Amino acid sequence: MFENLQDGLSSALKSLSGKGKLSESNMRDGLKLVERSLLEADVSYEVVRTFMKNVTEVAVGEKVLKSLNPSQQIVGTVHQELINLMGPVDHSLHLKGPGEVTVLMMCGLQGSGKTTSCGKLGRMLKQRGRKPLLVAADLQRPAAIDQLHVLGEQLDIPVYSERGEQDPVKVCNNAVKQAKKLGADTVILDTAGRLHIDDELMGQLERIDKQCNPEQIYLVCDGMTGQDAVNSAQAFNQALEIDGVIMTKLDGDARGGAALSVKQVTGVPIKFIGTGEHLDALEEFHPDRMAGRILGQGDILSLVEKAQAEFDEDEMKAQEERLAKGEFTLDDFKKQLKQITRLGPLRKVMGMIPGMGGMLDSLGDVDPENDMKQLFGIIDSMTPAEKRDPKLIDQSRRRRIAAGSGVEPHQVNELVKMFEPMSQMMKAMAGKGMKDRMKMFNQ
Ligand code: GDP
Repeated sequence: MFENLQDGLSSALKSLSGKGKLSESNMRDGLKLVERSLLEADVSYEVVRTFMKNVTEVAVGEKVLKSLNPSQQIVGTVHQELINLMGPVDHSLHLKGPGEVTVLMMCGLQGSGKTTSCGKLGRMLKQRGRKPLLVAADLQRPAAIDQLHVLGEQLDIPVYSERGEQDPVKVCNNAVKQAKKLGADTVILDTAGRLHIDDELMGQLERIDKQCNPEQIYLVCDGMTGQDAVNSAQAFNQALEIDGVIMTKLDGDARGGAALSVKQVTGVPIKFIGTGEHLDALEEFHPDRMAGRILGQGDILSLVEKAQAEFDEDEMKAQEERLAKGEFTLDDFKKQLKQITRLGPLRKVMGMIPGMGGMLDSLGDVDPENDMKQLFGIIDSMTPAEKRDPKLIDQSRRRRIAAGSGVEPHQVNELVKMFEPMSQMMKAMAGKGMKDRMKMFNQ
């Protein structure tokens, strides 16, 4: 996410480090590079100007210039300004209590990822114990109704549609009226998109807003479209007073400008971000964590949350019990690696671990997914006794395992060597919660 911005900012900030005390002119040169990387990331010019003004005020102040570690203080200031730029965010979906129906209205231009985001949001609500109903009110795009039905089937979430009906306001109204009867407590309206903003669309959305009185209105914006996304957010907000933005496609090569500008320009915060085509790729947007990611400091909290949502609880419990007894075998190791692969592509996961972001560059063309498969192959070629006690693996066993998994014997050796400290660490971590463990990794 935002690799170029990350590279630009970290090299700008690096240019300031290692110099000990800084003169005002050193500092200004470094800040010029910060400014350039923000502009290159397509952050709106006005936003960059205010941002730089705030950062410069602190940076060339006596307190920073005369401090022992001015470069560290600058990183702190840039971090804080990035947070101010994107926040604050209220993540609440303003869901009503039992027996009442909450209406969430989604809008956005065609292709922004609106229908997909309806599915993702439905999935998130279901995971939180709500009973969502998806409403197909995008009558503009011919395939949108079918698309929503397919999503609903995949997620096991009911979908309300009225094929043949021309008026989306009616469809929304009927859906909200019937929600209770259909066993739903949260209605998600997938409204019509257009290629461009026009009066007819805005009029239709305003009527849906008036009639259905949604608790929250979210605008889905395509983060890849840069400043266009910010402009459309402004236009939608003028007509509808949106409560939050869902910025999609931040997994691709979005430069980051839209994500950094939208709050400042429109006053509306990003509430969620879409980080992939899969239905689990929706994250709450936390400006502090995003600022950390942008500055290459990782985002361990999001990773922990993702892990808690994705890991199989029974499996985790079984592993805990075995660990508590001091058991950690190569089979357990493999299971853990498998769980990590469930969190997403390894490069993405590594980018969220503090300090690992920079290591990604040094990986070059190495394919961590493939390495992982190779590790699994080696472990699978071992006997149960060898997996329990890798010390048994002598030269002839090593050759047998290597032949069985199509690798060189030294690679078997490397795995065993890597496993030993890991096994000790895991045993030391037995009984500690996920957050404590992550802290141990961070030390
Ligand atoms: P709509 O016209 O706004 O309803 O857009 P769709 O929901 O049909 O999405 C348009 C395309 O964007 C589809 O191919 C989606 O799979 C894709 N898409 C949606 N959200 C994301 C995202 O967060 N990341 C990526 N990479 N693709 C996405």
